[in-house]
Amino acid sequence: MNRQFPVSLPEGYVDFFKNLETWQNEQQIKLKMNYSPTEIDVLKVLVSSNKPIIQSVDFDIDEHQYKIIYQELLPILKDYRYQITGELDKILAKLDQLDFSLLPIKLLEEDQTYFSELAARLDIPNELLMFTIDHALRPFLRLWAEPHYLTITKDESLSWSFAAICPFCGAKSNFSHLRATDGHRFMFCDHCFTEWATRNMYCVHCGNDNPKTIQYLTVEDDDAYQIFTCEECKGYLKTFDERQQGDQIDLFIANIETIYLDMLAQEKGYGNHNVD
Ligand SMILES: [Zn+2]
Ligand SMILES: [Zn+2]
Repeated sequence: MNRQFPVSLPEGYVDFFKNLETWQNEQQIKLKMNYSPTEIDVLKVLVSSNKPIIQSVDFDIDEHQYKIIYQELLPILKDYRYQITGELDKILAKLDQLDFSLLPIKLLEEDQTYFSELAARLDIPNELLMFTIDHALRPFLRLWAEPHYLTITKDESLSWSFAAICPFCGAKSNFSHLRATDGHRFMFCDHCFTEWATRNMYCVHCGNDNPKTIQYLTVEDDDAYQIFTCEECKGYLKTFDERQQGDQIDLFIANIETIYLDMLAQEKGYGNHNVD
């Protein structure tokens, strides 16, 4: 189905992310050839630590491999984002100033000070620097998370209580889908591709479950995509209802394609709030 977007997205926006995802998949396949997954009782670790798996378990990342993937990513960004070629060339010329053993750790710790200082030192926009470091890391995150996808998805007793936070990598999500067979809600993490079950009439940001203060909107006869909003915390959650379309979709692309829903929600005063 070809979706008509109610707002115009920047030209090439969706294609750019499709190509980025394809490239990340290829990197993940290459990394997988030399990877032996760590045995982890993920549900036990989640319950006992109350933290995302990545904060409790050591995953080895080979800094040389990470650097190679990072270097390969920059020309891909250049192809699709020619406006920032100058900034990307600056990064390429200053690669020796990047500490590839530290970058993934700082990214996962969300150390904003570290990145703003580094960006200032390199004289490049912080947002671009973080985008490159983040997207070069995603093939590794998906490689580590993949062996545990099923265990986490099948956990219908909801061992993980922070619904908006990915139980594997700790990234924040505001995208979910309702399963075609029974309408059950699953959150999706676009960083590591983990999916986890959550309650249906429930705000993933603040835990509010009062149906009177949870509403949903759809856009222009497109019932498959919905936004749930919460009046308690002014948070919102994008949702793809598989029952409306009858098939599964690429959730990463669906999340990108529905940026107009984010815009709509934000226009109405909703955000990705966490009350904690
Ligand atoms: Zn994740
Ligand atoms: Zn809420």
